[in-house]
Amino acid sequence: MLNRFLPNEHVKNIFEVRPEVLKEKGIKGIITDLDNTLVPWNVKSATPEVIEWFKQMKDNGIKVTIISNNKEERVKMFSEPLGTPFVFSARKPLRRAFKVAARQMDLQKDEIVVIGDQLLTDVLGGNSAGLYTILVVPIVQTDEKITQFNRKIERKIMNYFRKKGLISWED
Ligand SMILES: [Mg+2]
Repeated sequence: MLNRFLPNEHVKNIFEVRPEVLKEKGIKGIITDLDNTLVPWNVKSATPEVIEWFKQMKDNGIKVTIISNNKEERVKMFSEPLGTPFVFSARKPLRRAFKVAARQMDLQKDEIVVIGDQLLTDVLGGNSAGLYTILVVPIVQTDEKITQFNRKIERKIMNYFRKKGLISWED
């Protein structure tokens, strides 16, 4: 049951996710989280590096949709300047937002990867929706109140995986 929380892959940050590698695997779309995945949760807009990453994906024909549990104002302000589709108040780990994003990108499940920094929302939701999941290290160690609670549970699950030898990375 806990395997639902196990990501398919783990990277340090989004920049390790390369369009050439995705293309080789037949991936045509990314569903990514926003807070602490693309930028720190308290940073309003994309950094030049993030803008460049989005451009590289676009140049390689890879669609990107941002799905976030955060409010409309936050998600819209961040996503619109990037010209990228978004879903706000996504209620991850529920599957609905992932399905909406997949449908909007007009892609099949095996053509999509999910990127996020939280096991309890991004990874659980992506796995439940039948998608390939990539966990990133949270950009900053601080979080909004609601996330702080999730992190405690997350640490327990991580320790379990580590004990079982299912993950090898360090915090
Ligand atoms: Mg996040």
